[in-house]
Amino acid sequence: MRTVYVNGEYLPETEATVSIFDRGFLMADGVYEVTSVLGGKLIDFDGHLARLERSLSELDMKKPAAFDDLLDIHRELVRVNGITDGLVYLQVTRGSDGDRDFVFPDPETTEPTLVLFTQSKPGLADSPAAKTGIKVIGIEDIRWGRRDIKTVQLLYPSMGKMMAKKAGADDAWMIEDGHVTEGTSNNAYIVKGNTIVTRHLSTDILHGITRAAVLRFAREAQMQVEERAFTMDEAKAADEAFVTSASAFVMPVVEIDGTALGDGTPGPVAKRLREIYLEESLKSAV
Ligand code: PMP
Repeated sequence: MRTVYVNGEYLPETEATVSIFDRGFLMADGVYEVTSVLGGKLIDFDGHLARLERSLSELDMKKPAAFDDLLDIHRELVRVNGITDGLVYLQVTRGSDGDRDFVFPDPETTEPTLVLFTQSKPGLADSPAAKTGIKVIGIEDIRWGRRDIKTVQLLYPSMGKMMAKKAGADDAWMIEDGHVTEGTSNNAYIVKGNTIVTRHLSTDILHGITRAAVLRFAREAQMQVEERAFTMDEAKAADEAFVTSASAFVMPVVEIDGTALGDGTPGPVAKRLREIYLEESLKSAV
């Protein structure tokens, strides 16, 4: 049985509890991070911690008491659960003051809730999907306007994943004002000629930690990068496409709304960036 962490305690998963009045449960008043684990080490940990700090501050949420110990808690969970490849999920909510109220509870008297747990995913970096590539469909982006904050409001992205499955695809790209924002749980990219195009950072998308690393590696490898919005028509006419996230790394996209890209197999840029990302991020794993 998994050992999980809740508010200062390591517990068997069946004994870990959170109040029914927790604002994460009642109002999606919470933020999260997912850090991947490869070879027992945490990938891009500093980036995830920095984004967590920013998410908390944008929502005027107090840092949980154990904030400075988060690296130790991640490592301890990886150790006790014997995780070689997998993920550490972390969630902070505004906590519970024992009732339901739209008004934020007083941070002086109400502690945030801090929960972490692991997911074991043996062979995470060798997923079969990375070899075949995935298929995506376009759906309207009807999420709220602060997608740069990593909140636990994941109902629409979850519905998007279901819409994709129903359409025989693997994932959905969300579209706003005719332009792709991002995938349901990843950042979206197209490649045309020698140029990689991905949407610029703003409040419209999550500032992916993997995105930042991949763009840095792409530029270091002398690839051209354009950070701007693109349309689905542009995407369907691209040479290749891919998505990035902490758990999928760089994942090739081979079909968009039923149109195969190139010869319908993962393209060279996506394959190369996946290799570079895995190699380089392992070097800085902690
Ligand atoms: N966009 C969205 C909407 C996401 O949910 C995620 C994954 N959390 C990403 C992008 C990718 O971010 P990261 O590379 O930090 O995992």
